[in-house]
Amino acid sequence: MHEDQSPGPELRKLINADSLSTRVPIAQETLLLLAELANELVTAPDFEALKQILIRNLRWIIDFDCCTLAVQFEPTDADYILFDVTSPSKTRRTPPQKIPLGEGWPGQVLLDAKPYFLSDLTQLPDLVTPPVKPEWGIASQANSLMLLPLRAQARTLGCLSFSSKSPGTYSMNWRTLASLLGSQISEQLASILAQDQLKRAYEFRERVMESTTDAIYTLDLTGNFTLANQRTAEMTGRNLKELIGTPFTKLFAVPEQVKIQDLISRVIIQGGAINQFDLELRQKQGQQRLITVNLAPLTFAGEISAIVGSAQDITQRKQAEAALLEVKLMQAAKQGLEKEIAQRQRVEEALLATQARLQHLLITNPTVIYSRAWDNYDITFVSENVKAFWGYEAREFTATQRFWADRIHPEDAPWVFAAFSRFSTQEDQICEYRFLHKDRTYRWIQDQLKLVRDSDGNPLELVGSWHDIHERKRIEEQLRYSAFYDALTDLPNRALFMNRLEHAVDRVQRQAGLFAILFLDLDRFKVVNDSLGHSIGDQLLIAIADRLKACLRPEDTVARLGGDEFAILLEQIQDIQDPILIAQRVQKQLAQPLNLSGHEVFTTTSIGIALSTTPDSRAEELLRDADTAMYRAKSLGKDRYEIFDAQMHANAVTLLQLETDLRWAVDRQEFLLHYQPIVSLETGKITGFEALLRWQHPQRGLISPGVFIPIAEETGLIVPISWWVLDQACRQMHTWQAQFSAQKLSISVNLSSKLFLQTNVIAQVDQVLSKTGLAAASLKLEITETVLAENTTVAEVLSQLRSRGVQVYLDDFGTGYSSLSYLHQFPIDVLKIDRSFVKSLGSSEVEERQETSIVQSIVVLARNLHMQVIAEGIETAAQLAQLQQLNCGYGQGYFFSRPLDSKATTLLLQSPPQWWAMVAPGRI
Ligand code: C2E
Ligand code: MG
Ligand code: MG
Repeated sequence: MHEDQSPGPELRKLINADSLSTRVPIAQETLLLLAELANELVTAPDFEALKQILIRNLRWIIDFDCCTLAVQFEPTDADYILFDVTSPSKTRRTPPQKIPLGEGWPGQVLLDAKPYFLSDLTQLPDLVTPPVKPEWGIASQANSLMLLPLRAQARTLGCLSFSSKSPGTYSMNWRTLASLLGSQISEQLASILAQDQLKRAYEFRERVMESTTDAIYTLDLTGNFTLANQRTAEMTGRNLKELIGTPFTKLFAVPEQVKIQDLISRVIIQGGAINQFDLELRQKQGQQRLITVNLAPLTFAGEISAIVGSAQDITQRKQAEAALLEVKLMQAAKQGLEKEIAQRQRVEEALLATQARLQHLLITNPTVIYSRAWDNYDITFVSENVKAFWGYEAREFTATQRFWADRIHPEDAPWVFAAFSRFSTQEDQICEYRFLHKDRTYRWIQDQLKLVRDSDGNPLELVGSWHDIHERKRIEEQLRYSAFYDALTDLPNRALFMNRLEHAVDRVQRQAGLFAILFLDLDRFKVVNDSLGHSIGDQLLIAIADRLKACLRPEDTVARLGGDEFAILLEQIQDIQDPILIAQRVQKQLAQPLNLSGHEVFTTTSIGIALSTTPDSRAEELLRDADTAMYRAKSLGKDRYEIFDAQMHANAVTLLQLETDLRWAVDRQEFLLHYQPIVSLETGKITGFEALLRWQHPQRGLISPGVFIPIAEETGLIVPISWWVLDQACRQMHTWQAQFSAQKLSISVNLSSKLFLQTNVIAQVDQVLSKTGLAAASLKLEITETVLAENTTVAEVLSQLRSRGVQVYLDDFGTGYSSLSYLHQFPIDVLKIDRSFVKSLGSSEVEERQETSIVQSIVVLARNLHMQVIAEGIETAAQLAQLQQLNCGYGQGYFFSRPLDSKATTLLLQSPPQWWAMVAPGRI
C-alpha cells in the first residue's frame, strides 16, 4: 500500500546519480563539532542517552528540517521503531512509531542496507508523487534527502535520515560527513544493543536458576557458599544474605560435618564429582530434612576454581519409598503366612493402613514412585503423578512390555542396563540418564532403585523412584561450558585445547600415528584494535573463529588461546603435507577482506606448525615448538607458515642472546646511521635525507633495524637509542648544510611510538637542536599511524613541535587503519606513501590499476589537506614516471639511491646525481 513511496531500484539509480556536482566546503567548526559529537557518543551508556546526544547535537552539524533515527532492535523483529530526533521540542511532540520493515523510506534502507542521497527533488517531480509522507520521518515538502543505513557487525541496525525543504542542501561533502557520522553512531548503537542482549541473557540465566525446584549453589575452595538460588535458601531455612559466606558444613549436625568436609576435599583434590550423596540437613529452626547432594568441580584454565552443587529435598520421597518397601514386605509376609489366618488378619489390617499412608504420600510427592520386576524390565506399578513428569498415563507403563526400557536414550541405555544388572551383588542403585518424554524430547532423570527380598532372601521386586533433574543438568552443563570455552568466540579455550592435546599425545604414545599443531597469530590485530577500537577487534576475532571452523574437519580442534592467538590440533594425519595444506587453506580463507561495521578490514596470519614426531614430547613442549615456529614465520615477513625444527629452538635462544647483546651495543657504540636521499620528483633535486639506523654487531655483522628495533622497543632500549640517533642525525645534517649551503637540505628521523610514552619528548628535541645547532625547520620527525592511535597526549606534543617549526611526517601511510579523521586532528605536514603501494606501479595491469587509484587518492587527499606527499620505495623508472603523472611531489627509493653511510652520502652530494635526466629532462 505504501510501496509507491519507497524508492525502487530504478528510482534509486536516478536519485543517487543526481547532481554529484556541488562541493560546498565544510567549515572547520563543523568538523570540530563532529569530532566532539563522536567523543560524546562513545560515552552513551544506553539507547536513550544516545538519542538525547543526537537530539542535542545533530542540528548544529547538519542542516535539516527533519531528522529521524530508525532502529530495528532485534535482528528478528518484523518492525522497526522510528524516533524523531529533529529537536527536543519536536521529539516531545512526535512519539516513537512502530512501522513494519520495508515500509517507508527508512524501512527500505533497513532492508537493502544502501544509502541514498537526493540533493534536489524538484528535478524529479514526477518520479516521487507524493514525494514523502510526514509519518515516514521525512519533512513535508522535502526537496533534499539523505538516508544512511547504520551498519555494524554485518547487520543493518537502523537508518539515519535527514530531510530539508530547500533543494540542493546535501552536497557531496555533506554526504561524506554524514556517512562518517553514520559509522560513528552505528558503532555505539551496536555496542549498546549488544550490552542489552548481554543483560537479557544474564536475566535469563537468573530466571532459569530461580525456576528450578532444585537448590543450586556454588562453593569456594574452603567450602563457603558464594552463590545460591532462592530454593537453596528455602531448603536450608535461611535467607540468601546470611547463606552467602556460610560454610556448607554448618548446615549439618556436628558428627556429619567431618564427613562432608572430606567430600569437599575429595572434589577439590581428585577433581571428580560426588553424586547423590544423601545427608540429613538441619534447618535453621531446627527441623531436619533429608536431602541428596551433588558436588562437582568447576575448572578454570585447568585449575579447579570452585565447586558447583545442587540438592534436592528427598524427605517425602524417602518416606514414600519406605512405605512402599513396607507394603512389599507385607505382601511377602502375607504369602508366607497364608495358613495362619489370625496372623493374616493382623497383617492385612496393617497392610491396609500402610497402603493408605502410601496413597497419601504418592499424591503429594514430587517424585514418581514405581516398582519393577526384578528379572526383566517390566514396570508393575507406577504412581499417577508420572503423567505430569513424562506425559504418559501410568497404565501405559504397566500395560506394555519394556515400555520404560525402550524410552531410555540410546546412548545411555547400554550402561543403564549394565548398572541395573548388578542387583545380584548390590541392593541399591542410582543412575542418571535421559528418558524420552511423550513430547519426543529427552529429559534427564535420576533413577533410584532398591531390591526387595522375601523372608527367605529371594529377590522379589525392585522399588524405585524417578526424579526430574533436567534443569540441574542443564545448568551444570552451562557452567562446565564456560570453564572450557572462550566466551567471545565460542571456541574451546586453552584449558580444553591442552586437555585434547594431552590425550593426543597419550594416543600416539600408545598406538603410534601422527598429529600436528598449528599455532596461529594474526598479523595486524593490534593495528585493528588500536585504531578501530576494541568492539571492531572483537568482531574481527569472532569472524576469524567462524572462518577457522569452516575450513576444518569436525574432528579437528580449533581453540582460542588468548588475544589474537589461535591453535589447531589436527589428529590422525598421514604426513607433513596434511598440515601444510591446511595451513595454506587457513591462510587463504583468513586473508579475504572482512566488512566490520562498515570498515573493510584485512588481516594476514602467521602460522607455526609442530608435528608429534618426537616420541616422548609433552603437550606443553609441542605447543611451545609450534609457537616458536610461528615467531619464525613472523620474523620472516609474516603472512606465511613455518614448520618447527630444532634449528628454530636454537634461533629462539639466539634471539634472546641478541637481546643481551643489544643492551651492550648502546654502551659499546655499535650503532651507525645510513642516509637515503629524498628527491623532488619535479626538479630531481635532493631535498633531504632519511636517517636509517644500522647495528654493527661484532660477530654477526650489519643487522637491519627490522630485526633489532622490535627488541629495542620491547626492552625499552629504544629510548636511549632514539636520542642517540636524533643527536647524530642533526649533527651530521648541520655539517652538510655548512658544506653544501647552496642545497637546502633537511633530515628526517624516525621516532618510535614508545617514545611518546615519555613525557620529555619536547625537552629532548629542544636540547638536541640547541646542542647541535641545527635549525628546527631542518628537522623532520617520522611517526607511524600507531602513534596517533595509541596515545592521547600526542596531539599536544605534535603541535608543540609544529610551533617550533619541526615538521611531522606520517610514515608508511596506508598500512595502518587510522581513520581519516586523524588527519584533521593532528598537525601533520607530509604523508609518506608506503612502499607496498608503490611496488605494483608499472607492473601487471590489474594490480597496477588498483594501486594507482590508491596512490592517486592519497595524493588528492593530501593536496586537499594542504600536505605534501613522499612516495617510498621507488625502484624503477616506470614507477617514477607513473608517480610523476599522478603529481606526487617527492620520492625516495633504490632507484635514486640505497641508504648510504655518511661518507658515500657526502660524495653523492658533491656530484650531480645520475637520475636528473630521468626526473626532469627539460631542465638539463
Ligand atoms: P621506514 O622508516 O619506512 O624506512 C624505509 C625503509 O625502506 C628502509 O629500510 C629503507 O632501506 C627501505 N627502502 C628504501 N627504499 C627502498 C626501495 O626502493 N626498495 C625497498 N625494498 N626498500 C627500500 P630499513 O633501513 O631496513 O628500515 C626499516 C624500518 O626500520 C624503517 O622503515 C623504520 O620504521 C625503522 N627504523 C630505521 N631506523 C630507525 C630509527 O632510527 N628509529 C626508529 N624508531 N626506527 C627506525
Ligand atoms: Mg621512515
Ligand atoms: Mg616508511
